[in-house]
Amino acid sequence: MLGNFSYSNPTKLYFGENSLDNLRTELSGYGKNILLVYGGGSIKKNGIYDKVVEILKACGKEIFEDAGVMPNPTVEKLYEGCRRAKDGNVDLILAVGGGSVCDYAKAVSVSAYCEEDPWEKYYLRMEDVDNKIIPVGCILTMVGTGSEMNGGSVITNHAAKLKIGHVFGDNVFPKFSILNPVFTYTLPKYQMAAGFFDIMSHILEQYFSGTDDNTSDYIMEGLLKSLIHSSKIAVNDPTNYEARSNIMWIATWALNTLVAKGKSTDWMVHMIGQSVGAFTDATHGMTLSAISIPYYEFIMPYGLQKFKRYAINVWNVSPEGKTDEEIAGEGLTRMEAYMKEIGLVMSMKELGVTEDMLDGIAKGSFILEGGYKVLTHGEIVSILKESMR
Ligand code: NAP
Ligand code: FE
Repeated sequence: MLGNFSYSNPTKLYFGENSLDNLRTELSGYGKNILLVYGGGSIKKNGIYDKVVEILKACGKEIFEDAGVMPNPTVEKLYEGCRRAKDGNVDLILAVGGGSVCDYAKAVSVSAYCEEDPWEKYYLRMEDVDNKIIPVGCILTMVGTGSEMNGGSVITNHAAKLKIGHVFGDNVFPKFSILNPVFTYTLPKYQMAAGFFDIMSHILEQYFSGTDDNTSDYIMEGLLKSLIHSSKIAVNDPTNYEARSNIMWIATWALNTLVAKGKSTDWMVHMIGQSVGAFTDATHGMTLSAISIPYYEFIMPYGLQKFKRYAINVWNVSPEGKTDEEIAGEGLTRMEAYMKEIGLVMSMKELGVTEDMLDGIAKGSFILEGGYKVLTHGEIVSILKESMR
């Protein structure tokens, strides 16, 4: 049964090969000063930077650059971005990059005019925003996070060994996002596969919760089937527009709040994965892939009927003559085989996790209550141990 909810999504999307043409129109709605935010330089190598700067100049904008946003953006970088945004008195933050750049842009947008330490206010205490928010626009170059159409913003504090995501409200969502599948073609295979699994994980975190009959579960099964089909094509043929464009669209719908409406959600894979990220700085999607199979094997008995449904509807497991446990187990076996096929990391060891970190990683994992089993600290440690295989 669907619970009560309200729904709106304020982000305007422009999708397709010619979507950058719409930047001009969007820019006309904002003042002169633009903070151009990007990462470590991929956009300079693949020419996207030149295209964007040309449009900004043609529109008479003053560009303030904020480069070097690292994967898993840090709190130190956030403080630096706040200074730049304030010094430039910027009217719009234009994020050009992947989830890290988009997340960071949102963090700067709420933090620049925050009168206390934004890490404490918005990440440790998760308070609502009550200061001026600088509008954000995104030009996406990596698919996975859904950051282009949500309020999520994840910041890492290495000193505190914490990686925390604040899911901000509608007023922090990007005002517009430009999604050109061709811009993602230059992604290295490792990042591409990691992004694909981030999408899968976002869907599963929302799917594996609740026992009710819920429309969202049917939508998610469709998204998963399309993702599995297209990702197998994309890993062998990265410039296949049909596959890449479908995946870009799935990523947006996987985490733009729609499928979570009216239902409970889990998010423990992300909670553990983010803590792994705080300890190792590993690629987000790979932290999720390394923990997922041990996690789902552990919780399967507590949500057996949903795992059975997943096996049949998503992985085409034939139920004939099998017990529920066998059907559900075969679903996870097929999922694991698929994960290996697309080149995902299946062991925490490969991400630099060592045995002595496990207790700390478990401590840094926020325990949420929406899944089939509320984990104890000890259970998180034993799931992590399984993931060291
Ligand atoms: P990312 O960290 O934004 O990018 C990963 C790498 O890919 C970077 O080294 C980047 O290089 C490179 N790259 C990006 N686009 C490229 C392109 N077109 N060609 C070549 N290289 C390219 O990856 P992400 O997975 O999108 O974002 C991860 C962050 O998002 C994590 O902090 C994660 O926790 C967070 N996250 C947020 C949400 C949310 O709801 N907002 C959800 C899940 C995860 P350059 O730096 O050189 O550009
Ligand atoms: Fe994610």
